[in-house]
Amino acid sequence: MTDPSDDVEIESSADFAAVPDAFQRLWTPHRMVYIQNGEQPHIDECPFCRAPKLSDEEGLIVARGTHAYVLLNLFPYNSGHLLVCPYRHIATYDLATPEEVAEIGALTQTAMRVLTAVSRCDGFNIGMNQGRVAGAGVAGHLHQHIVPRWAQDSNFFPIIARTKALPQLLGEVRAQVQAAWPDTTAP
Ligand SMILES: [Zn+2]
Repeated sequence: MTDPSDDVEIESSADFAAVPDAFQRLWTPHRMVYIQNGEQPHIDECPFCRAPKLSDEEGLIVARGTHAYVLLNLFPYNSGHLLVCPYRHIATYDLATPEEVAEIGALTQTAMRVLTAVSRCDGFNIGMNQGRVAGAGVAGHLHQHIVPRWAQDSNFFPIIARTKALPQLLGEVRAQVQAAWPDTTAP
């Protein structure tokens, strides 16, 4: 399956020292899309540090917790592709505090429930690419991917699911997910 936002070669999971699995798209290296193609006036600023300073609409944020927040991936693998980020600029999961770990986990659970309710997805790919060598596009700031999957991967928001970056459509998805998000998500 071709990622519409990607012009890099997709690595086959068969090349890895493990059994082939369904996760190969999670390992596709991100390009520095946020930094190169974004509208950031301060191009050096980390996109995941900057997003919480924006409005929910501008930052594509669907939920704000105490230690972490949830936003739409600007270049989704699939429609409804969410990212859970700590507010702190930390690179890897082992640097997260127990409070951050707990809230990242709780927000991930809530995201799964919300996406299931809103989009009727059949499954998820969830994971973190740790370090640029592992495919992290924004390697400096930890982010957990939550990618909803459908049996056909084409039933929900079929246009945007194969569309790179149409802010209007991303905005519709953001509003729908945010509307379904419960008020209390903190653990
Ligand atoms: Zn950051």
